[in-house]
Parts: sequence; C-alpha cells; structure tokens
Amino acid sequence: MTRLFTAMVATETHTFSPLPAGFKLYEECYMVRSGKHAEPPSVFAVPLVIFRERAKARGWEVVESLACFAQPANRTLKHVYEAFRDEVLADLKKAMPVDVVILNLHGAMVAEGYDDCEGDLLMNIRKIVGPKVPIGAELDLHCHLTQEMIEAATALVIYKEYPHTDIADRAEEVFKIIADTVDSKVKPRMSLFDCRTIGLYPTTVEPMATFVKKMTALEGRNGVLSVSLGHGFPWADVREVGTKVLIVTDDRKAEGDKLAEELGREVYAMRKEIEPPWLDLEPAIDRSLNISAGKEKDSSLGIAGGNGPVVIADIGDNAGGGAPSDSTFILRSLLRRGIKSAAVGCFWDPGAVALAEDVGIGGKLDLRIGGKIGLVSGDPLDLKVTVTALVEELTDSLGTGLTSLGRAAAFRIDGTEIDVVANTGRSQTLSPDSFRQMGIDVMAKQLVVVKSMNHFRAGFAPVARGIVYAASPGAVDFNYKRLPYTKVRRPIWPLDENPWA
Ligand SMILES: [Zn+2]
Repeated sequence: MTRLFTAMVATETHTFSPLPAGFKLYEECYMVRSGKHAEPPSVFAVPLVIFRERAKARGWEVVESLACFAQPANRTLKHVYEAFRDEVLADLKKAMPVDVVILNLHGAMVAEGYDDCEGDLLMNIRKIVGPKVPIGAELDLHCHLTQEMIEAATALVIYKEYPHTDIADRAEEVFKIIADTVDSKVKPRMSLFDCRTIGLYPTTVEPMATFVKKMTALEGRNGVLSVSLGHGFPWADVREVGTKVLIVTDDRKAEGDKLAEELGREVYAMRKEIEPPWLDLEPAIDRSLNISAGKEKDSSLGIAGGNGPVVIADIGDNAGGGAPSDSTFILRSLLRRGIKSAAVGCFWDPGAVALAEDVGIGGKLDLRIGGKIGLVSGDPLDLKVTVTALVEELTDSLGTGLTSLGRAAAFRIDGTEIDVVANTGRSQTLSPDSFRQMGIDVMAKQLVVVKSMNHFRAGFAPVARGIVYAASPGAVDFNYKRLPYTKVRRPIWPLDENPWA
C-alpha cells in the first residue's frame, strides 16, 4: 500500500517586526498533531485535509505529522524551529518506508540561524526518504524561492491569487502532480527565473488579473504541468527575497527555463503598474472622503464596486504582514478631522477587551486603546466609549477555511458613530463579517478602516464605493528603499535602478 506522509511548519517572517515568534505564537494560531483538524478546517489546514482525502480515495495510507502555523512576526526562535523540524523528522523516520511526502509550507519562514527554513526542512526530509520518493509542497504566494527548496522537492505549487482565494485549488494541483508522479505518468522538473524585483502585487486588479489568467492558460499543454509566480515577501532581510517565476514541466527542463524567463521578464516590465496604488496617510484619507462625497471615483473596482463605505486599508499595520495591529495613526486622524461615521478594526488589544468584558455591554469606559507594542504602533488613544458588543470568538474567512481573531469587543466612541473593534488574537480583518459579528453594519458607515493589506479586498470589493491603500506609518513600510536590508542579493529593483545592466 502506498504510504503518504504530510506535515506543516509555517509562518511568514517579517525580520524587522517588533513581535517575537516563540512557541506560544504557534500554539495560539494553529497547532495540531496526527491530523486532528477541526471541521470545518481552519484556513491553515485546508490543504492538509485535501491531501488526506485525495490520498484515502486512492486507497493510500496517510501518516500525518505536526501541523503548525504562526501569525506573521519576527524570526522564529532557534530552539522552537529546531523542535518543530526535529518532531517532523522523527515522525517521518518512524513512518518509514514512505512512498510520498506532501507538505503545506509558506516559503517565507525565517528562524534565528535559518534564513530558509523550508529549504532546511525539505533537504532534511530528502535525506531521510532518499532520491526516489516524490516530495511535493504547496507554498504561499509571498514565498522566497531558494535553490535548496527546488533541489530537495519534486514539485512546488504556489497560490496564484492575492487575496489567497485559491488555496484549495492549488492543494488539488500539487496533489495531482505528485500522484501522477507516483503512477509514473509524469516526471516533474522545475525551472526558476529570478525577476530581480521586490514588490507586492494584488491579483484581482489589472494588469495582474490578466497575467494570472495567462499563467493558468499555459498549464496542461506542451508538457507544462504548473506555472507559479512567487511574489516574494518584501519585509525579510534574506538573500533570496523577491519575485520569481516557477515552472513545473513534464521532463522538459529547457522549455521550462525558457518559459520562466519569458514570463519573468514580463513581470519585470510591469513592476511599477502592479504595485498597489498606495498613498501616504493624509492624502489617503483626503481621497477616501472625496470618493465618499462623489468628487473622485475608484476605477479599480470596475463593475464590482457597491454603494457601501469607502474602505481604507491600514497597510502599515497589517497583522498578516507581521505588524502589531494596534497602531492609532488613522483613527487619530479621523477624530482630528471630526469624522463622525466609521468602523475601525481590529485593534489587537487584549487589555481593552478584558476591560470591556468586565463592564459588559452598555458599560461606559475611559478607554486607552492601541499604541502598546512599540514605536510603529504610535501613541495610545484615550477615548470615552460605550461597549456595544462582546463575542467569545470572532472568526473570519477568505471563502475557504476559518481564521480565529480571538475574543472581541466593540466600542462606540461617545458623540460619534465611530465603532472600534478590539480583539485578543492578532489577525487581519478579512471581510465585512468581522464587523457584522460585532453588530456593526458596514453599509451604514461612511468609512471603514481595516488593518489588512489586500486580503480584505475579496470580501469588501463587492460592497465598497471605493478602496484606498493608506501607507500609514507602521511596521509594514512600503518604501522598500527605507528597509534596513543587509543580506539581499544585488542588484535588485527598486534598490538598484537597473538590475539588468
Ligand atoms: Zn501570502
């Protein structure tokens, strides 16, 4: 009987973040052993559940090892990463002989002493299983692709969509390629092309939306099994940061190399157009108010836009990028401008939630909120508020799989119609559902501020009058030239004006 081994050790590491990544960060976000995933599965477990179900349908035996994920923060502590890795390797040794390995990884995990955790994990797995066993992995689109990962794995498949709405589809894809390899139907070979570019590219707007369609259309013919674009995760001081094209062919390495270069050069050529059109904080609020008043239009929404609020993405304080999610810059500006109708969330502020729980719904508080973690959080705000809602567990979703935002409280700022949500589980706001569960109707608000970079777009674009990316001061700084990189390979754009010279 064919025996499949699966595991997940994953996070996205922001090496300039003020937040540490120890054992607790994983335990609080996601940690499961022996395949004991909840039903419906967490967003982090969706691929693992798919691997298990598809394998069982083929009559395979499945051995499930550690599955853990942490909300993005700084480098994982050395002993924590080594403990996770060694647990997976020990489980694998115990399960030997295995015929197939499929992992759910991120691709941008950095630990103290390990700039490429995925490469290290895959290399160690390869040593145990030997050269013949197919090893597949699904990666997040914000991954750093390294030579070690390519060498150790048989096939890697990366999400194509940002917001990540295709996690389940890509899991099916990597499973199929690996299963076909087991059946000797295909012989995967990987081709990698370095675009020499650092950036972040939403895929539901043009020209990336068309590029994603093009990648998909190339698959399944001329021996091309899979086409991926690893966007990279800019906030990481590692050598291999940046955007790369990855092609998996059925034993056609030369053609794969050529196609990877062709697509990679295309991405480089449109690098400026595909960055989100972010504005500095105050101009972003000006634009939001203009859209709200009908003086400007957000053409990026196309026909998808609704007549609800203007959504401001607090991109500098995105928990999903390793930020504290407690900065006060935008809320402070809204109050200074006398804006009366808004919803703002979520502030990661367990202390504020505890006070709200103590006074209860309807209770009044002199609340000090946000500004706790460091300079990137700004100063705390002192507000007079009324508690309007409390929930035991706030959850949100990108369509497949749930994320927990922990316990949550909603506050109405006295004398306004501004509602603020605070939570105990640092995580970004993914959809209007986060507000709905707190009794807040986003459709009735002039402005909605979400502490998210782009994932919110899937849920908000259909209802929003406009979406504005505000580069608030914060941990996730979009001026890449300002980031204190020391290890990044050069030349690379935009650190170097012409990396191809
Ligand atoms: Zn991502």
